[in-house]
Amino acid sequence: MKSLVTILGATGSIGESTLSVLAQHPERYGVFALTARRNAETLLAQCRRVRPRYAVMVEPEAASRLREAIRQEGLATEVLCGPQALEAVAKAPEVDQVMAAIVGAAGLAPTLAAAEAGKRVLLANKEALVVAGPLFMEGVRRGGGALLPIDSEHNALFQCMPPGYRAGAAPVGVRRLLLTGSGGPFRTRDPKTLGAVTPEEACAHPNWSMGQKISVDSATMMNKGLEFIEACLLFATPPAGIEVVIHPESVIHSLVAYEDGSVLAQLGQPDMRTPIAAGLAWPERIASGVGPLDLVAARSLTFEAPSFERFPCLALALAAAERSATAPAWLNAANEIAVAAFLERRIGYLAIPAIIDAVMAKADIGEATSLEAVLQADQAARRYAEGLLPKFAC
Ligand code: NAD
Ligand code: MG
Repeated sequence: MKSLVTILGATGSIGESTLSVLAQHPERYGVFALTARRNAETLLAQCRRVRPRYAVMVEPEAASRLREAIRQEGLATEVLCGPQALEAVAKAPEVDQVMAAIVGAAGLAPTLAAAEAGKRVLLANKEALVVAGPLFMEGVRRGGGALLPIDSEHNALFQCMPPGYRAGAAPVGVRRLLLTGSGGPFRTRDPKTLGAVTPEEACAHPNWSMGQKISVDSATMMNKGLEFIEACLLFATPPAGIEVVIHPESVIHSLVAYEDGSVLAQLGQPDMRTPIAAGLAWPERIASGVGPLDLVAARSLTFEAPSFERFPCLALALAAAERSATAPAWLNAANEIAVAAFLERRIGYLAIPAIIDAVMAKADIGEATSLEAVLQADQAARRYAEGLLPKFAC
């Protein structure tokens, strides 16, 4: 029996990489549904290639365009529209695996629906976990499915865990998790020039090719901060059990240090098809299309401690991890607003940490005991951050 997959966020960087891995194993996997926000052209091209049963567009006008194009071409794919449809194709009984690759907190509802329906959830959408944290992990437990981390660092940590390990459990015999990060495009740039950097410069990651939002997050190292919170949740580990290490070559994707002194690492080329293939087939191994790692060509692997002066977003995220409750939801929402405004050239690069800092200073942190509480925190933080934008306008 083929495993049927829904890809939430199919037109993005992770979505395309997932389709590339699936295309190499037509005997193993079929595509149930593909979803996107409004990029009807790319979704149409994907529908031609993989003939999914459903295609979902969040925006109604884009859905109409896609529906018309699909009708004209005589494809059998049914086009659905809106956030409810995202949830429907995430939890449909026919679906075995859901790739959660929507960017931002917008991915929370369908990803949670997949988890509660007991699907095997391949989690790339880190913001969903950061925002809803323990509630999301509880949804996975209740649903009885499996959670496979796709973020390369968390997939690396998962691969280095003791045999039989399941995400959400505290790993036995582990001393520390070492979370690596490249330091992004501004690791060595003169801090005095950071105020003038453009979205293009911030998105030019030295090692990885990714969507715009995560690329900016990598430049500020908020990405590593969100990943720190993500690691606390996925591996049931307190902040004190996780260390961030800068590793500019992006060859080691993270490490697990054991009580006996052993340190296990996962290495590979910086290509998301590797963790995607590992998640899809786990515990089996399948080809991903990624070539072998050439250690001699890599020559040397280097490491350094992160600078919180250079990367204030990392410090803000670690503080939110310590505060927990709804603090990560506040942090994430403020960051989403600030990064979107930076990409639209409404604010400068240094306004990103300044806005998040101002939001966190005013944040009304409450217990994250219900989805409503978490979503309220998310909305309040968005409003507050939006209100600050004129003050930081460039
Ligand atoms: P992307 O911007 O390339 O793609 C985002 C996808 O989400 C698109 O298909 C888009 O249509 C959809 N989308 C955007 N807003 C939406 C909304 N409001 N409602 C529904 N769908 C919406 O992003 P990406 O780089 O592929 O990243 C996706 C997720 O995976 C992010 O959470 C990111 O942090 C995580 N991730 C990405 C990488 C990477 O290499 N790209 C690595 C690790 C983790
Ligand atoms: Mg990552």
